Order: sequence, then structure tokens, then C-alpha cells
Amino acid sequence: MDASRRDFLKVATVGGTAAALFGFDLKPAYAELRRLKIARASETRSTCPYCSVSCGVIIYTLGDGAKNVTKQVVHVEGDPDHPINRGTLCPKGASLQQDILNERRLLKPQVRRPGGTDWEDISWEQAIGEIAQKVKKTRDDTFIETDAAGNKVNRCESIAFTGGCTDTNEFNYLVVKAMRALGVVHIENQARV
Ligand code: SF4
Repeated sequence: MDASRRDFLKVATVGGTAAALFGFDLKPAYAELRRLKIARASETRSTCPYCSVSCGVIIYTLGDGAKNVTKQVVHVEGDPDHPINRGTLCPKGASLQQDILNERRLLKPQVRRPGGTDWEDISWEQAIGEIAQKVKKTRDDTFIETDAAGNKVNRCESIAFTGGCTDTNEFNYLVVKAMRALGVVHIENQARV
């Protein structure tokens, strides 16, 4: 049979009406459809990265971890157990799946050299090495041992660190430890949680 989309909609509508007339309860069927979408997915709790509200999200991923299986994010929704948003998301957060599955997503570090107009792809090793060299040079060149009043301060005002709201408490703890060890005083985080 050659059924068009219009035919299908007619049948579906008639079927739904018949089910209602004969007293069938369609809720379990609809619930099953809803459940099947994420039934075999694994859940990962995370934080929306877009703004400082830091709403909690659940990321659903399909793929059992077998060697030849590439895990795939299939759904993202608000975390109903999260104290900040209790399952709700604004339109930006609700579109997070498009942020994760996006061909324009950056997957490697990039650098734009002084005076340059284009971004250049570099490896993680090169990025970490260059950052370490610049941090050392900047700190060596600008470290302040004593302030104008003669107080011992041992601080570096020429480097700043800012974190994102998806950084964990443990990561932030290590960041503060490392930055304070360098004498960095300008430390911020996007999140207000
Ligand atoms: S869902 Fe909206 S309000 Fe919540 S953190 Fe993301 S962008 Fe901010």
C-alpha cells in the first residue's frame, strides 16, 4: 500500500478517537514511547555552561562501552533533583544537545599569534608548554615582593585566572592552591554556586 503522510495522520487520528470512544487508556502507551527513548542510555549529571545560574542537567548517552562502539549523546534535559533549577531549563540550556553535537565544536587548542588574524590549531602538548613558559616569564618579570608602604606582599598581579561553572569543587580547589602558590590574587569563577 502506498500511504501518504496525510493518510497516516488520518489513520492515527481515527485510531486515537476510536481508542477514546471505546475507553482505551492510551497513557501507558505514551509513557512507553517516552521511556524507550532513554531506556538504555546512561545518565551523566552536569552543569549548563552558558551562564552563571549554573542549572543542573542530565546528559543521556547511548553506547555500552564496547571496543567498537562510539558513545553518542541522545538527549539532554534539566535535572529534577538539582536545587537550582529543579528540572527546568531556559531555551539556551534546553538546546544543549546542539552544543555537544555540533560540527563547529572546537576539539583542540587554538592560538592567535600577536598581530595575527587567523587562529592556528596546536597540540595540547604545545599549548601546555607555551602557557607554562608565558606564566613563568610573566611572573618573573612582574612579581611584587614589597608594596609601596614597605609591606611584604609576595604577589603576582599580572596573571588572572577565571573558571567555568562546569568546573568541579575538586578542580577549583586545585586551581586556587596552584594560583595562590604562584602569588596570583586575581581569581574568579563564572559560576555563582
Ligand atoms: S539553563 Fe539557562 S539559566 Fe540555566 S545555566 Fe543554562 S543558560 Fe543559564
